[in-house]
Amino acid sequence: MSDARTAGDDGGVVSLASLIPRLPKVLLHDHLDGGVRPATVVELAGEIGLELPADDAEQLERWFVESADAGNLVDYLKTFDVTTAVMQRADHLQRVAREAVVDLAADGVVYAEIRYAPEQHLREGLSLQDVVDAVRAGFAEGVAEAAEQGRTIRVGQILCAMRHLDRSDEIARLALENREAGVVGFDIAGPEDGFPASKHASAFATLADANFPVTVHAGEAAGLESISEAVHAAMACRVGHGVRIIDDVTADELGDRLGLLAHWLRDRRIPLELCPSSNVQTGAAASIAAHPITRLRRLGFSVTVNTDNRLQSGTSLSREMTRLVQEADWSLQDLEVVTVTAAAHTFLHHEDRFQLIDQVIRPAFAAARGGRHRA
Ligand SMILES: [Zn+2]
Repeated sequence: MSDARTAGDDGGVVSLASLIPRLPKVLLHDHLDGGVRPATVVELAGEIGLELPADDAEQLERWFVESADAGNLVDYLKTFDVTTAVMQRADHLQRVAREAVVDLAADGVVYAEIRYAPEQHLREGLSLQDVVDAVRAGFAEGVAEAAEQGRTIRVGQILCAMRHLDRSDEIARLALENREAGVVGFDIAGPEDGFPASKHASAFATLADANFPVTVHAGEAAGLESISEAVHAAMACRVGHGVRIIDDVTADELGDRLGLLAHWLRDRRIPLELCPSSNVQTGAAASIAAHPITRLRRLGFSVTVNTDNRLQSGTSLSREMTRLVQEADWSLQDLEVVTVTAAAHTFLHHEDRFQLIDQVIRPAFAAARGGRHRA
């Protein structure tokens, strides 16, 4: 717990947790339809005449978190029927995208890759390209609004194809057509168990041929085979969640032993986009204290901390980090390592990643460390 308390600017001791909102953060795994403001859901539902499970924002927020607490991924995903229902018009999508950026910037996020599945926003007649355009316009407005508030944030889009459906080839092409217009990556999302990544082999081949970055949700609801498919069949640069890689780590009197797949991920520095609160909600981890993220970090995996769905988990990146500090004994150094790891594995080009690390992240953490010594 040596780093759990540090010194404030006035020389008084403040908790590490209180510093977290001000530290620069990098977010690689955040769903647009999992981060809608509850008040916005209420307002947009009113506009389109959608009946909600609760009428006011506070009750609705509670409903989202409680429903998402179901303990399995399938029930958890049902809450998205409500959020995607209010994201079918260009102006609504644009608003949700703008607010997401403003909210992340307010939480100290300096770079985010926000993902969504364009195919889930076509019910009111938008084309796939209309959806991407609306989100891009919203992100640009959000970046400008954050700048007016004195905050700098950069945002990229990751387009998801739904893994249980068959539009991945189209979505892969859509991603490539928009690679110069804010789309930085491709993902497959939705129910994992029973829907292998290899089903989308042709999309992944198209993307690999075009040297386009891919991340794949894997090792959340299904195990090692799914992670293996993500990194081999799908050629993923990152793994979405990947928490079940811990099943390939055993411990005996000689210490921890890694299986071949665990070695593969650790040796190749393939980052895991871990989402602690979300994993506890879906039953992929028992608690924050028992979440494999801490053990994986100590074992030297490329670990990053993410929100997944801020609305359904009632969370923010600051909250995820605070929980790790308070419930799993993480230090300021742990937070710096995962932040630098996230920045180093964004889908930005190399020089942009290291500009972020050298000019934004390292100086801020150095200042936070310095504060402690002024005590
Ligand atoms: Zn996710």
